[in-house]
Parts: sequence; structure tokens; C-alpha cells
Amino acid sequence: MFEFKEEKRSKFCGARVGIIKTEYGEFETPLYVFAGTDAEIRTLDKKSLKEVKALVANTYHLGVRTNKIKEMEKSGGLHKYMNFKGLIMTDSGGFQVFSYGFSREHGIGKIGFFPGKSKVKTVKEENLAQITEKGVFFKDESGKKKFLGPEESIKIQEKLGADIILAFDECTSPFHEYEYTKKSLERTNRWAKKCLKIKKSGQALYGIIQGGFFKDLREESARFINSLDFQGIAVGGPLGKDRSDMIQVLDWIQPFLEEKPELPRHMLGIGKPEDLFCGIERGMDTFDCVIPTREARHGSVYTKNRRIDLTRGSMKFKKGERIEKKCLCQTCLDFSVLELREMIKSENPRKTEVAKLLTVHNIFWFQNLMDKIRKSILEGKFKEFKKEFLKEYIRKII
Ligand SMILES: [Zn+2]
Repeated sequence: MFEFKEEKRSKFCGARVGIIKTEYGEFETPLYVFAGTDAEIRTLDKKSLKEVKALVANTYHLGVRTNKIKEMEKSGGLHKYMNFKGLIMTDSGGFQVFSYGFSREHGIGKIGFFPGKSKVKTVKEENLAQITEKGVFFKDESGKKKFLGPEESIKIQEKLGADIILAFDECTSPFHEYEYTKKSLERTNRWAKKCLKIKKSGQALYGIIQGGFFKDLREESARFINSLDFQGIAVGGPLGKDRSDMIQVLDWIQPFLEEKPELPRHMLGIGKPEDLFCGIERGMDTFDCVIPTREARHGSVYTKNRRIDLTRGSMKFKKGERIEKKCLCQTCLDFSVLELREMIKSENPRKTEVAKLLTVHNIFWFQNLMDKIRKSILEGKFKEFKKEFLKEYIRKII
């Protein structure tokens, strides 16, 4: 079962609040979806996992790279396997077409799909994804060839049993020229149709808008996805070279999204605080990104003023000071920043423990930010809240 209902929208922009209903409950949007690639949120135990509202697991990793899917099928799908009652999405494997393929060949990082100068690697690697009309051949770590196409992706996602599943697509590289991106989009469109035809389950299947940083291709993609019978719409990367390009892409497609306001909209791989505001303002409902959990594992935490890298020794904290004043997450209730810093400096296994504690804080922080944004839209004060938040928030590493 899957339903989406828009409850209220801003009078001044595309920001809106809604509810996604599944057999496991009701989920308020805007909503943050955390990375649960291998059917777990790394470092979290079962008790902390209960606090998470939504996560995204990965079809390629679960269904192709490892054979975890058999265990999951036996348990009756991801929710039961993980004993998780939150919202679950599965990524179709389309992102791995990029991360195993042109991401390596073009020497670019993955976060946010923005190539930005610092992300360009000097050493370029072998492209491990060979794309054909039927699907993609991946070479795994051991050199073995594995195949994933629209049919395989949907069948795996049906076995995994997430609430939301995604159409199999090719996420192109920001360095692809117009001609390649156009050809890729036409293939992705053919795959989208196939995915819809193959799906038999009651899961919500989202179509993905691709088209790189090309206005006519983004529009063509949005028009095409709208013409099919998807239960939701996702926006995929690449989204240009920086935030202003991302805003541009969202502005190109927003009129098409507004033609089908009854569908929920997801933004793939985007989730820095300042990007959330840009997306929500342009009608996006849900977001997924690795940063809250990945950065916690590397010692960084989010606060309303900035992101703090606790592995650096130069910052001064007062005795008893929390990561963020008044934060009500379990970590902040139990530990001060100084105690957490001591744990970071100490040897394993305290390091695993502290990674968990910081993950708990970051997940709480991002969920809390989404709740505040939701409240501001309901009260008709989204613009004011955005201004106030961004004025205080300086995203710099200390
Ligand atoms: Zn906290």
C-alpha cells in the first residue's frame, strides 16, 4: 500500500508539506532518507535504528554484488529482515552505472553530483560498467562480470520489498557532452517503460528525470516521465557544477512537476542543509544523501551554526558543553563534546562507539531540521525560516 497526499503549500514558492502512507505508517514530508546501502545504517544498533524515519537500500549491492538478497527473501523482505518499520526506498542500481563507470573513468567524486574542482581526481581508473541496450555489465572486485538491466532491477526490488522503488536508469557524468547525454536519455526512457511493464507488486515505482545540465533534455525527460503511469517522480544527477546549476535544473523542471502535483517527488543524492532549502522551495518532498552518516563516521557533526570536525584539535569547548546547545538526541543527553573528543582520540573499540554516537546526533539533527521546515511551511513562514537558518548556518569545517 502506498499513498501520497499534499496537505499544504506555501503561497510564495513551491514548498509543500504532505503525508506518505504505507502499511507501516504515515510519514510526514519533507522527509530525509538516510543511507542504508547494505540493509543497515552502518554503526547503528537496533535501538538507535528505531529512531530513523526513512532509509534507502541499494539494489546493486544487495542483489548483484553480494547475495544477501536470498536471506532477505527468506525473511519476507527488507522491513522484516531489518525489523524496521520506517519508510524504505531502494535505489535501482542506476547510480552504480555511474559510480562503477564514468565516475572512475572521468576521475570525479560522487557527492552531490557536482564535479567542482576539488573533487576531480588526478588518477583516473578503469571503467567497470559496460552499457548496452539491454542493461549494464559490471565488473566486480574479483573481476567477475555481473549484469543488471531494467528487468533484473525491478525483480530484485520486488524481492527486497521496499515501499518505494526506482526505475533503472543511467546516471550520466557531468563531463558528458550533449550528444552522449541525449542518447543515454533515450535509452533511460526505454528502460523506464520496461520497468513499468515488468513491475507486478503494489510498491510505488518512481520514474527518474535525467538529462544532465541541458535544458531541452531535462524538459524532454520530465515530459516523458509525466506521460507514463509512475507513482512518484525522482530527479537524478548530474546537476551541473555547483548549487546555482542545481537550482537552474530544478527551475527547468518545476513547471512539469506542477502538472502532476498528486505525485511525491524525490531528489536523489542531495542532502546538505543549504541544498534542502533550495529543493523544498522548488517542490521536492524527499531527499537522500550519505553525508549525515558518512561524515559522522569520519568525526563530523552538524549544528545550527556549522559543521564541526571533531577530529581536529584546535577548537575550544567548555566543560559540559553539548555538540549543540539544547539538542535532545540521546548522544547529547549522555555525553559532552569534550567526552566525545576524548573518545575520538582514544584507540579502538571506542572509535566504533563514538562513530555510532555521532551518527545518532546527525540523524536526529537532520530529522529535526526537516520537522522545523515542515512546521514553517504549515505556519506560512518558510521564507522567514530559511532566511533565519541560513544566516546562522555557516558551513565550514573547523
Ligand atoms: Zn545531539
